[in-house]
Amino acid sequence: MCHEEEKIPYNVVEEFDLMDGGDPTTPPRFSCEQCGGEMYPEYYKEVQGHEYKLSDVL
Ligand SMILES: [Zn+2]
Repeated sequence: MCHEEEKIPYNVVEEFDLMDGGDPTTPPRFSCEQCGGEMYPEYYKEVQGHEYKLSDVL
């Protein structure tokens, strides 16, 4: 939300994705340490093959 960027290792994102209830339609999201807003992965391809891009939500 504040356009802060954070590099998160793929395996950490994947772990988050598996923990979020296993909904395949939602990518893992993180809380921004700067503003508490939601961070969306710039690019993420999950185990089942879904691909998410930041441009999808902008
Ligand atoms: Zn932020």
